[in-house]
Amino acid sequence: MNERISDKAALDAAHAVHPHTNLRRHLQSGPNMIVKGDGIEVIDAQGKRYIEGAAGLWCAALGFGSERLGEVAKQVMTEIGYYHTFRGASTPWVSDLSAKLGAIAPKGLDKVLLQTSGSEANDTAMKLVWSFWEAQGEPSRVKIISRHNSYHGTGALTSQLTGKANFHVGFGPGFDRFRYVTEPYYYRKALEGETEAQFSSRLAQELDEMIQAEGPETIAAFWAEPVIGSGGVFTPPEGYFPKIQAVLDKYGILFVADEVICGFGRTGEMWGCQTYGIRPDMICCAKSLSAAMLPLSAVLIGERVFEAMLNQSDKYGSFAHGYTYGGHPVSCAVAAEVLTIYEEMDLIGHVKSIEPAFVQGFESLRDHPLVGDVNAVGLIGCTELVADKQTKAKHAPEVQITARFEAAALERGLITRNIGNRIALSPPQIITAAEVEEMFTRYRDTLDAVAKEIA
Ligand code: PMP
Repeated sequence: MNERISDKAALDAAHAVHPHTNLRRHLQSGPNMIVKGDGIEVIDAQGKRYIEGAAGLWCAALGFGSERLGEVAKQVMTEIGYYHTFRGASTPWVSDLSAKLGAIAPKGLDKVLLQTSGSEANDTAMKLVWSFWEAQGEPSRVKIISRHNSYHGTGALTSQLTGKANFHVGFGPGFDRFRYVTEPYYYRKALEGETEAQFSSRLAQELDEMIQAEGPETIAAFWAEPVIGSGGVFTPPEGYFPKIQAVLDKYGILFVADEVICGFGRTGEMWGCQTYGIRPDMICCAKSLSAAMLPLSAVLIGERVFEAMLNQSDKYGSFAHGYTYGGHPVSCAVAAEVLTIYEEMDLIGHVKSIEPAFVQGFESLRDHPLVGDVNAVGLIGCTELVADKQTKAKHAPEVQITARFEAAALERGLITRNIGNRIALSPPQIITAAEVEEMFTRYRDTLDAVAKEIA
């Protein structure tokens, strides 16, 4: 077994090009080969087990491996394997999933456009925003405002919508339709003595000023994850979204909520929009929609946008947009079964019952000498590692604090998601209270070990 895997590692190093990886190093070191899953754990080629505290890429809501979902996939693959949704065609699996998703969508967002990935969903929503304003007779509204350190995808346009600075370099010049406001990073972006509520007001004012400076007649939409995920896990400070929403309402600007991470219970409600009182015009979701067992995403479309789509389709003869694999029947059947499992396990009730232990797990790390900031809600959270708790000074790069944490955590059988100095957890939603306790024991042990190492 091990020999076979190490052959595979050599093949991987020789041929597989990996995203978000130092490619030259990979040629030498090869992959971290994961060969099996079991509940919230994954198992590597040497047989070592890890708690997957990041649910893969914030997505494996039901953990790893499922006979039940495998049976569903097998049946649909055997029966038909593929059909499309173009030119009015459909399959029962598309109809069922769309209806199920429409039923759990926030009120008024029950039109479902199925896609394949989170990036596709965001890219599609962007086109719908521009189409909406054209239909309203305001085609000059093309600019989209997102936040620094937001993450909305990796396509040519979605990587521009994404507010992470490293997404804006290395691939030639950007596009001129995107603007970024300050992200709700209270720990570092609040002024001395500023309360959360004051900080939220200031960020809403910044947005208002940007809209005025650009000209409200040029602004199409505001884009936000309810909790920023891959940019560093920033839970919104008190009053943030209602204040932002009020500014958008003033100018009639659309609000698109990127719930690719937050959807399906991650923040303690079905949608992050419900946790934070957001009234979006569209929601993009993916990841937990299919528990990541197969690629699938969706755009949930609100009434005013759908009305514009009808008008545009009248004007141009059809809605000229779609992907070959959008609404893939095997993915749809699996996702519909995933939604049934969520009902059976009472997903939201379960997350709410685990949330106190999870949030308390993070809060209990607040007094650790390495920990500066703590952010947590539902089943998503992080710490920020600092060199000095009082001054919030960061560790010097040569300390390699995050790499040290990662190595020590892996040694202890814990996979976390590390974003700069922020060490995130977003475990599978099926996690139990006992598993949460074990996860935080390993997290704290890791912090202790790293503190000792650098002392
Ligand atoms: N939006 C958010 C909030 C995400 O976290 C991600 C993926 N991490 C995406 C969009 C892009 O999804 P995908 O990788 O499926 O294209």
